[in-house]
This record gives sequence, C-alpha cells and structure tokens, in this order.
Amino acid sequence: MQATVNENCIACGLCVESCPVVFNMGGDGVAHGGEVPENQLGDAQSARDACPVNAINIEE
Ligand code: SF4
Repeated sequence: MQATVNENCIACGLCVESCPVVFNMGGDGVAHGGEVPENQLGDAQSARDACPVNAINIEE
C-alpha cells in the first residue's frame, strides 16, 4: 500500500502527528506519504479520514 498526498495539503500537520511512520513534512512545507506497512494501515486510514482537506489517498 502507498499513501500519497495531493496539492490540496494545507500543512496542518495532523497526519504526521497521527501516523509518523508513513507521513512526513517535506522541506517544501507540505506533507508527503509513502509506503504503508501492514501494521500502520489503520493509523494511515485514520489520518486520511481526519485530513481536513481530503488530500490523502491510500492505494495498492
Ligand atoms: S492532514 Fe491533510 S492537510 Fe494536514 S498535513 Fe496531512 S495531508 Fe496536509
């Protein structure tokens, strides 16, 4: 599974706080996703659902 963050990100930091294994704040000031380990899927999905601007996608 891969988590991606689109251009809607407003850099609120929520996803990085709730699932730091998958999301990180890039040097460009917005969040970036990455590979989602099996044991992080629940947290990553919660982060996606909590994103205020629906910028997160999780896909195979
Ligand atoms: S929760 Fe959404 S808006 Fe906030 S940093 Fe993460 S991707 Fe960006």
